[in-house]
Amino acid sequence: MSRFSHVDPDTPTPTRLNRGALRRILGWLRPYRWVILINVCLSLILTGAELMVPLLLQWAIDGVIRAIRSITAAVGEVERAAVFAGAWHDLGLLIGGFVGLFFLMGVVRYFEIYRTMVYAQRFMYGMRRRFFSHLHCLSLRFYDKWKSGQLIARGTADMDALQETIAWAPSHILSSAFMLVGACAAMFWKDPVLFGAVFPILPVLYLLTRRFRIKASDAWRQVRAQTGRLTANVAESIAGARVIQAFAREQRNYEVFGNLTDRLYDTRIETERVHGRYMIGTRSIWMCAQVIVIIFGAWRITVTSSLPEGEGRVTAGTVAAFLVYVAMFFRPIDMLTHIYSQLLHSLAAADRVIEVLDTEPEIVDRPGAVSPTDFEGDVTFDHVTFSYIEGTPVLHDVSFRVRPGEVIALVGPTGAGKTTVCRLIARFYEAQQGYVCIDDRDIRDIAQSSLHKRMGIVLQENFLFAGTVMDNIRYGRPDATDEEVIQCARQIGSHAAIEALPQGFETEVGERGGLLSAGQRQLICFTRAMLAGPRILILDEATSSVDTQTELKVQEALRRLTQRRTCFIVAHRLSTVRSADRVLVIEDGRLTEEGAHQDLLAAGGRYAMMYEEFIRSE
Ligand code: ADP
Repeated sequence: MSRFSHVDPDTPTPTRLNRGALRRILGWLRPYRWVILINVCLSLILTGAELMVPLLLQWAIDGVIRAIRSITAAVGEVERAAVFAGAWHDLGLLIGGFVGLFFLMGVVRYFEIYRTMVYAQRFMYGMRRRFFSHLHCLSLRFYDKWKSGQLIARGTADMDALQETIAWAPSHILSSAFMLVGACAAMFWKDPVLFGAVFPILPVLYLLTRRFRIKASDAWRQVRAQTGRLTANVAESIAGARVIQAFAREQRNYEVFGNLTDRLYDTRIETERVHGRYMIGTRSIWMCAQVIVIIFGAWRITVTSSLPEGEGRVTAGTVAAFLVYVAMFFRPIDMLTHIYSQLLHSLAAADRVIEVLDTEPEIVDRPGAVSPTDFEGDVTFDHVTFSYIEGTPVLHDVSFRVRPGEVIALVGPTGAGKTTVCRLIARFYEAQQGYVCIDDRDIRDIAQSSLHKRMGIVLQENFLFAGTVMDNIRYGRPDATDEEVIQCARQIGSHAAIEALPQGFETEVGERGGLLSAGQRQLICFTRAMLAGPRILILDEATSSVDTQTELKVQEALRRLTQRRTCFIVAHRLSTVRSADRVLVIEDGRLTEEGAHQDLLAAGGRYAMMYEEFIRSE
């Protein structure tokens, strides 16, 4: 999934600061306030030092001119040698001053960058942890609403958008403002007339930069949106490569990809065009400012030449210092507009992160919830009505009671509500009406962690994590030793099948277990459930067909797995239905029949008809 896929091209670029998000960010930054303060101070010291450089330059130029004049005016060898030595001494001081200042600035800059990055990374580390652990608390209803791509984007790209701002915004805003004011003040102090000549350029520059930033951020948003579409297309093409080939859609797919790359090319060129125009614009203004300084400067040197030094005389050094200060105008204006547009985007990104963080987990342990270490395995549904979407119930007034150790087969047409029954037992969702009880205790009064520890859930899709077979089996009980895992596989009958894999228990299963067959994955999932030692087992039986030999192994494993535990099996196989103690028939969200397989057959109702269909399909 693309990092950029959250960028919706139809969402306008934010134009106002999101104050709510800003307040939240400031709240998160509170623990780092001293670090930020020190960083801001370092940054201000650096800016102060930078503002000194033109003064040193002025001193150097005027000093050299003065020295040359004195040497030329000196009479006699002795006097010339003395003046020459004095000039060398001054020059040495000057070079020493420059070197010292630059060295100091380098050291301070290093500490500023290092400290800022350390604190920013610490902040991001905390935020990522908070985000990830919050995702784990959220109920399945949350995951029904959100696409995984959206969540991934919020946890990655949106987080990254925050990083740059929280790291640099405070010191850059303050140091830029300081530099702008400092440069203006220095110029005014050096020569108010010359300053008055270049000052009108400031608003022009500001307007141009602002316009550029808006256009550039629009153009970049388009690039990100286009990159997102392209990446999503590539990801989909890779995932669906077999289907594409099977339906001979390669050419069409290639055309779609071609269109997307064309559009990406266009948007990318647009960003360069915007940038190019800005560069030309600012360079031109800068050159104008320099020409003004040089021409006005020359005039000021002439008209002030009769004044005594230090009393308003403009020198060549003053003009050189002005030229450097004019350059210093440009940087903070560019920086401030850049930070502003970055801040707009970061706050919009922060708002998206906050939306996830502010989602309350729907299913929480009630105050005083108990944590039993074990269950008997008695499960009761008492007039349970449940809907995923308000107003459209998928279970209507369902009631049944299952004794410890009973094996229940849930049968019924697709979409009838069998999986929903299982989800309510596992408390992935909560019933809106009625009660789900375990050992006669309302499931809401049992801590979720202890409930899930004693409950084994084997889903139809057989999800395995990338890693070895051993890692996957140990997933529900990380402290189990290798011997325990192997022993458990022997008990369930999956040992031989796992040993037959290329590296046995150490075989890598690949992403989602993609390197194994469906039957192998199922055996591993059974072993994983068995090792966790559940008292209640919920099993959505796989429908995918496996070869007869594996099928036999799976059936045998299933038989052993269901021994001495309360089991709910969403049954798709005849053999499973037959071997169950009791069958619950669910149709259209209602429990329509209930009883032992033979009794229901003898009754000749809906189950008997379904059974006929079962036999025909197998
Ligand atoms: P079964 O397992 O019997 O095939 P389910 O329990 O999965 O049926 O689904 C029962 C009904 O609930 C179906 O109409 C299905 O579309 C709907 N449903 C299932 N899961 C969700 C969900 N997460 N959000 C909304 N509706 C759902």
